[in-house]
Amino acid sequence: MSNPWKKVSAEADVRNLSDIMSEEYAKGLQVKEDLRFAEEISDTVMPESSDVSPEILKKIDESNVKEYCDSDSIIAKVLQCQFDREHDDEIKRVAKKMNGDAKVSISFDNYRNVPEHLVYDSESDDEDIELAYKKDWDRFETNEKEFASLPKRGFIMKEGEMVTKHDSTINGRRNACKVMAFPPEVCTGDGAGFDMKLSNSVFNQLKEHTRWNQARKHKMLDRKESHATAEMGLDEPTRLILFKLINNGLLEDINGVISTGKESVVLHANSDPSYTEAVLPKECAIKVFKTTLNEFKTRDKYIEADYRFKSRFSKQNPRKIVHMWAEKEMHNMMRMQKIGLNCPEMVCLKKHILVMSFIGKDNKPAPKLRDVILKPEKWQSVYNEIVEAMHKLYNVGHLVHADLSEYNILWWENKCWFIDVSQSVQPDHPSGLEFLLRDCRNIINFFEKKDVPDITTAEDLFKSITGFEEVDVNLLEGVHTVYNSLSSRFEIAPDDNRNVSYPFEYCWNKSNETKKGKSNNSGEDDDDDFDEMWKHAKPNQIIDASANFGNEVETFKTNVDFDVNSDIIVDTNVNFGNVIDVALTKNDVDIGGSSIDKVLKRSYIFVY
Ligand code: ADP
Ligand code: MN
Repeated sequence: MSNPWKKVSAEADVRNLSDIMSEEYAKGLQVKEDLRFAEEISDTVMPESSDVSPEILKKIDESNVKEYCDSDSIIAKVLQCQFDREHDDEIKRVAKKMNGDAKVSISFDNYRNVPEHLVYDSESDDEDIELAYKKDWDRFETNEKEFASLPKRGFIMKEGEMVTKHDSTINGRRNACKVMAFPPEVCTGDGAGFDMKLSNSVFNQLKEHTRWNQARKHKMLDRKESHATAEMGLDEPTRLILFKLINNGLLEDINGVISTGKESVVLHANSDPSYTEAVLPKECAIKVFKTTLNEFKTRDKYIEADYRFKSRFSKQNPRKIVHMWAEKEMHNMMRMQKIGLNCPEMVCLKKHILVMSFIGKDNKPAPKLRDVILKPEKWQSVYNEIVEAMHKLYNVGHLVHADLSEYNILWWENKCWFIDVSQSVQPDHPSGLEFLLRDCRNIINFFEKKDVPDITTAEDLFKSITGFEEVDVNLLEGVHTVYNSLSSRFEIAPDDNRNVSYPFEYCWNKSNETKKGKSNNSGEDDDDDFDEMWKHAKPNQIIDASANFGNEVETFKTNVDFDVNSDIIVDTNVNFGNVIDVALTKNDVDIGGSSIDKVLKRSYIFVY
């Protein structure tokens, strides 16, 4: 029978299940095979099978070589690197030697093992950074470099972030830098020791404070007085005192210069109306004694040559001497005021600056007598007034003006006002009488020129003032060594060296001789001469114990009982405003163990 289906023969290569299963088996065998092979391989590198003795391996182990490098190849590479670098360095050295400073150089780069641009030398980099850091003076310099490194656009990219100049750290450091740049007088401390950062608000406060302080410092110069002082070129200490006078409420303003002389500058000022401690004149004159006296230096030689100055003044500070002038003017002025002469009223004294009432009105100073125009008959009364004042000054005030002339007499409210008395001295000053005679000559000369009819001669005026009728005044001049005007400014205590050539004593001796001749009395004790002289010198003396002119007189305070009136005359008139002891003794008196001898007879002790 025929089968429509073709007879399919059975497949020839039919693997049975067991075959399939055996494939799995074969794989397993392969793994086993691999494992065995692996075991075989591993057996060959087993240390036990190596040639290296176990001791050496142990030592290698111990020396920790493994820690650094456990690979021969790496060690080999490192060694190669080392060799290459040395080689390249050598090449570099040779190249440098060959090329020197030549502008055209031959490159040895091709001989290098490693091209130079690929060399990364971490060590030298570190060094550079270190050096760069050292070169900065301090942290602020580094900070400044940091700001400088910021490009114009105001930001840089750092680690993927945008850093702008407003970054708080950079800004804080910059503020700290700015503080360091404040004026030198601002104390900033040492901010370089740490990373100082100042916030804007702190910085602004510091800046404000500094500015305010600076402004305060300059304020005194900006104040009203600056107008006057700056122009006159007054020095800093003077300006400071003037400023203080304003600041203390004594003066309201200082308006300008009335006069500039060789030795002083006179300014006009208004007193502060709100000042309560004293009644001040509305308008004031400020006399500033110049402390930089050129002529003072040239006078040095006179001082040195004069024994009276030697111990006392050679070592004095010129500024202090100028203070003394101002002080002396004040005391002389007060003495004049006390005896009722017309003169400025003292307001205050501060170092070389003297404040007094202003003679004049509405900023206009009274004219000097020299500049006044008066009717001829008026000049006669002016003459009489001045002569009277001179009498009073000498005999009551016990002063010689020593620079009296039409320049130092002001004419105000129909009266003469006497000023400029810093050089005034007592009559017994070594040059006192010379000065008085000179004053008389100045006055007489002036009134002669004014054709005043009823005047005397200078000599007669001198005699009438002093009472030295018998003295030949022409002998006065040149009796004593020539004194410069500086010496006249101070009463120098005549010490043991004083001799009878002093005009005062000369005059007294002259007068006494005639008296002695008349009375034929020659048995007087020499020690009495002095008292006699004083009495003679002050014929019109009004003994007024209260006439101490506001100055302190130190009388001897002692437990020794002695009669002040008979043995010691404490002459309160002879007080120059300084604390002085003036003792006139007839006999040596022992006071508390210390003896007052002749030397103390007439001593003006300056205490400053
Ligand atoms: P100097 O030593 O420079 O001559 P003065 O004391 O004579 O000093 O003063 C100089 C000038 O200043 C005087 O001639 C006078 O014109 C003026 N003067 C001084 N003091 C006063 C004052 N109190 N009132 C008005 N003017 C004065
Ligand atoms: Mn003067």
